[in-house]
Amino acid sequence: MPDRIYNFSPGPATLPQEVLVQAAKDIVNYNAMGIGLIEMSHRSKEFIAITDEAESLIREIMNVPNNYKVLFLQGGASTQFAMVPMNLLGPGKTATYLNTGTWATNAIKEAKLFGNVVVAYSSENTKFDRVPAPGEYEVAAGSEYLYFVSNNTIYGTQFPTFPVTDHIMVCDMSSDIMSRPLDVSRFGIIFAGAQKNMGPAGCTVVIIREDLLDKAPANIPTMLKYKTHADKGSMFNTPPCFSIYAIGLVLKWLKKLGGLTVMERMNQEKADLLYKAIDSSLFYKGHAKPESRSLMNITYNLPTPELEAKFVKEATAIGLNGLKGHRSVGGIRASVYNAFPKEGVVKLVEFMQEFEAGNR
Ligand SMILES: *Cc1c(COP(=O)(O)O)cnc(C)c1O
Repeated sequence: MPDRIYNFSPGPATLPQEVLVQAAKDIVNYNAMGIGLIEMSHRSKEFIAITDEAESLIREIMNVPNNYKVLFLQGGASTQFAMVPMNLLGPGKTATYLNTGTWATNAIKEAKLFGNVVVAYSSENTKFDRVPAPGEYEVAAGSEYLYFVSNNTIYGTQFPTFPVTDHIMVCDMSSDIMSRPLDVSRFGIIFAGAQKNMGPAGCTVVIIREDLLDKAPANIPTMLKYKTHADKGSMFNTPPCFSIYAIGLVLKWLKKLGGLTVMERMNQEKADLLYKAIDSSLFYKGHAKPESRSLMNITYNLPTPELEAKFVKEATAIGLNGLKGHRSVGGIRASVYNAFPKEGVVKLVEFMQEFEAGNR
């Protein structure tokens, strides 16, 4: 294995090296069967076992109650922006959304195609530098659900605690699923694209409370109805086989390390190192308000865009990759998901200090 760089990419993102090594073997010859993993029928008993294991690992690690289905879907997290309201809204029905960034904005746009949308909170005026404090918004009366994005990948903000409401909660957890313990029973739907914190691109995991499966109007397309996939164990059509398999490997790795409590501690340690480096300097300026800071995507600016470009270029040259901020905000973004090693964060902090000393 050649030396690996530190990959701060926001997604697809770094994966545990042991997962990559195992996957490389299995792609060529799965379990000494003489057939590659990605050549096998999704209806073979071997592949069904792979899917069952990935599902049971999700259930075990997240402590998913029995009255929830776990689905492996395609179309990215972005397809969920439409699937959620298609299945849960309808003419004359209302949903409440919290607008904390680009992904929430995109979801709001889709929801408006299917029903009434109340945007009860927006941090757009302050460049999405924060998430709401509890009580800073009200869920509209009669709402079918409250929708929010737990971690705002582009802006580097994260809900430190989840909203408390009697309404059904729908959450886009694409960039922080499995980064900390949570109580799944408080949610109606949790969904997440795999490519940030769970595996490679191609699969969206949806965790949905069973009673919501029957809410969908009859006239929506088969493939976009949650019940279609729930009734067939995510095998109504060909599922994203490789991605499901790789999610299984990542979750075995995660379980071996100690599960979500350990992930949260490790993520907190990594983020603390970076935020401390930012806060102890006048050269670097964090984008997110301290109370809203993400443990997954750490966003900051330098005094000028020119210095930011120089920073990215010099960091890349020493193997610190993927630090350029999203085009909509600029600056620097260090994405440090579960599988990102602490040594990479230490290296980045050292580089930040050297760069500041040389460019102040
Ligand atoms: C990346 C991301 C998305 C979009 O995911 P796709 O799988 O590319 O559609 C949606 N929501 C959040 C929070 C994300 O980070």
